[in-house]
Amino acid sequence: MKQALQKITSTLSDFFSMVFSSAANHAAAQNKLTHHIVALNKKSSSREIINEVAVCLKDILGYRLFAFVVKKTSGVDVWLDPRMYKKSLEDIISKDFNIRPEDLNYLNQTFEAGELEEEFSMKHLVYYELNEENCYSRLYMLPQKQVTPFHDEVVSLILQGCATALSKQIKMENLTDAAVVDPLTGCYNRREFETQINRHIATAARHRNPLSLFMFDLDYFKRINDTHGHLGGDRVLKEISLLVKDNMRQGDILARYGGEEFVAILPETDKAKAMELADRLRSKIAALRIIHNGTCIRVTASFGVSELTPNCDMNKIIQDADTMLYKAKLNGRNTVMPGLIKICSPLQTEAKEKIRL
Ligand code: GH3
Ligand code: MG
Ligand code: MG
Repeated sequence: MKQALQKITSTLSDFFSMVFSSAANHAAAQNKLTHHIVALNKKSSSREIINEVAVCLKDILGYRLFAFVVKKTSGVDVWLDPRMYKKSLEDIISKDFNIRPEDLNYLNQTFEAGELEEEFSMKHLVYYELNEENCYSRLYMLPQKQVTPFHDEVVSLILQGCATALSKQIKMENLTDAAVVDPLTGCYNRREFETQINRHIATAARHRNPLSLFMFDLDYFKRINDTHGHLGGDRVLKEISLLVKDNMRQGDILARYGGEEFVAILPETDKAKAMELADRLRSKIAALRIIHNGTCIRVTASFGVSELTPNCDMNKIIQDADTMLYKAKLNGRNTVMPGLIKICSPLQTEAKEKIRL
């Protein structure tokens, strides 16, 4: 790794001496690029690496990164600029990589129909590709200015840095994933959840920090499989886990507990905050529209929330969340238990305060 970085840094130095006449310009541009490439290697997920590439391209060339596609043995990961018109580029990627759009694994976010779309002309789209021992990737871009050999060279250098970082990251992911990650959703598996919850309970008890848990189960999921097929159901599981992960804090842990049931550990979070988060997620899930084979799938989820109490162990906190989840199902589904209610303060007519039921 160190050798690879040194190689890139020395190539950068030669290249910038050629391109920039003034020593000051040369040093500034080289510093910027070196800074970004070092930052790439400190990232701990493919998503962070790709975000850094997007920032780097914009910072140095004013380019807008449109899409980044990585083909690995486990599938095809895609990062898309959230403001772009998804469908057109999805069709191109799907054709280029010979894969069905619904099998692409989106790294950055879920998209809501009609939102965030921006018209663009395909004729300005350019792409660069790179091949590493364990991944093949392609960078689709919309350059703001005309592409020159200088731009090509800078992009190649950025890609070289990106390839080194991605390749290292993918190797690590492959090693750890098999043991702890659910292959369909990319969430932790149940066994890893149990390891993590015990660790988090011990830490929370030691530091007297709050710790909460929520469990959720998709409502009438069997019907989704019956109506849209098992692949449609799988797609829903993937999209929901992405949405939930995107809306949690970095230290939170999301695991697939089984079938269409998930569980999250929220360190340093009390029950009221956990209920607020669960309710926000519940409403985002209900608002999500998943397009599969040209039809729109909608789904809701029921949530149960629990919190660490004195002398509480793993079984108790899980059991409490499960009991609440069961109540949420009995309460008509698409709901969180215990739930938040709005009350009127005696001095004001508007409901302002939220309390626990
Ligand atoms: P409820 O609102 O009471 O939770 O109803 P439900 O239909 O969601 O619950 P039920 O337990 O009857 O059905 C769950 C379904 O989830 C049945 C099972 O086939 C499906 N399922 C479990 N794991 C997977 C999976 O990995 N992929 C797909 N597509 N379906 C799955
Ligand atoms: Mg269910
Ligand atoms: Mg279930």
